[in-house]
Amino acid sequence: MPDYLCPHCKKPIYDDEATLCLYCGESLERPSGFMGNIKYSRPKIIAAVIALIVILTFLLLMLR
Ligand SMILES: [Zn+2]
Repeated sequence: MPDYLCPHCKKPIYDDEATLCLYCGESLERPSGFMGNIKYSRPKIIAAVIALIVILTFLLLMLR
């Protein structure tokens, strides 16, 4: 679980999707590099994993 420190109040932010600090309400000013790549690629990875699980479940049901 990557945590990110609020640049204003230095509290850890555990919500990757959050753009505003939960504690002080300021913008988190997230860096657009590594963290940004994780943020934007994650939905695709989740969709791929769900699709794989569904396919495997179907295969197991077919084989029985
Ligand atoms: Zn803050």
